[in-house]
Amino acid sequence: MLVEVNSDEQLVALLGSPGFLINVGYINRAVKIHSMRCKYCDPRRKIGVKPSSKRLNKTGEFWYSQNRNDVNSKANEIATERGYNRSLCAVCNP
Ligand SMILES: [Zn+2]
Repeated sequence: MLVEVNSDEQLVALLGSPGFLINVGYINRAVKIHSMRCKYCDPRRKIGVKPSSKRLNKTGEFWYSQNRNDVNSKANEIATERGYNRSLCAVCNP
């Protein structure tokens, strides 16, 4: 099941779980898929994504699922509907 990740706390709680994170950036018009093992998925790290801040500033959104098909479908849907660039993280290679 696909869930929207609205806060840093919610993402931290998911960190030990298997699955994938979709990072949608409104400013760079990008949809990037990460494995949950990726260092970029930890908002406590300096390099990590920050769902709370993105939501507050209306600069993006995040989605999580254990199911790769759900993640691919959602990422493709967003990329197609909004004309965003879809990619896979080069670091975690999901
Ligand atoms: Zn990654």
